[in-house]
Amino acid sequence: SIKEAARVSMITKRLFASKMPGRFEGKVAIITGSSNGIGRETALLFAKEGAQVTVTGRNLERLEKSRQALLDAGISESNFLIVSADITTSSGQDKLIGETLEKFGKLNILVNNAGASIKDPENKTGISQGLDVYEQTMKINVESVIGLTQKTRPHLAKTKGDIVNVSSIVAVKAGWSLLAYYPMAKAALDQYTRSAAIDLISEGIRVNTVNPGIVKTGFHESEFGWSAEEAKKFYDDMGANRSSIPVGFTGRPEHIAKTIAFLADRDSSEYIIGQNIVADGGTTLVLGIHANVLNSLSNS
Ligand code: NDP
Repeated sequence: SIKEAARVSMITKRLFASKMPGRFEGKVAIITGSSNGIGRETALLFAKEGAQVTVTGRNLERLEKSRQALLDAGISESNFLIVSADITTSSGQDKLIGETLEKFGKLNILVNNAGASIKDPENKTGISQGLDVYEQTMKINVESVIGLTQKTRPHLAKTKGDIVNVSSIVAVKAGWSLLAYYPMAKAALDQYTRSAAIDLISEGIRVNTVNPGIVKTGFHESEFGWSAEEAKKFYDDMGANRSSIPVGFTGRPEHIAKTIAFLADRDSSEYIIGQNIVADGGTTLVLGIHANVLNSLSNS
């Protein structure tokens, strides 16, 4: 019968699908900041799609959670490596790259995802924050990316590899009075990406950024010294306010992981070079003058 034929065809398709190689089969990826948030989700997605991944961060407990998440997803220990390293140090960068090459023998993808808005030790805000906060902010969001890009360049040139930097919508042309330095760092990262992209494409290496809007991770807990409940309230309130996030909900790590995967997969995005792909639920489309209109529409 037609019904029976459709059932057999569906089963055959499923069998084939389970044998189809993943997008990242045979690829080796370093994902920085994968002890938490967006990076952990990206490591999971890449590994599920066949990549061998290096998971990294400084915090051992967080790294252990990532290890457990990979094992729970059925990823074998031979397909991932955990490296604890502070990537703002040259020795941390060397350790990360060295151990990856030692275990997997090559590098195809670098995701520069680690980043942070550094909390002021005296709770100062905006342009009153000291130069030490500025310097630490530049170190993690920009200098670590410069160092890792320079050091992985010969390895990525060999494999015609791909780099995805995780920037932010704070890099757009708007003022950020509460925290001035983090947006400056991400704007610098966007511009660095353009220069790196035009320089490295002659060696076959592609560089792009994803610029997320607000995403539920550990980011705002670190940024403002919030508790998990305070952060949850912030994400819930933001998501319920369409003048902040027009799509009507706060971003989740997988939204960004999928965008990173698109930009890291040559087959999907080969012709995209040095671009900033915004994934923000529409946040950057809203100007202050729209806010009241959007609010009244969403309340009606
Ligand atoms: P999380 O705070 O959840 O994760 C940050 C990750 O960066 C952790 O794994 C942390 O590891 C790592 N990291 C921080 N400093 C260092 C360091 N010196 N050396 C090594 N690793 C470090 O935040 P997200 O997942 O949200 O952040 C990921 C990226 O997304 C960042 O670049 C952030 O700027 C960007 N972003 C996030 C947004 C959001 O709303 N969440 C919005 C826009 C951009 P550990 O603690 O183990 O050292």
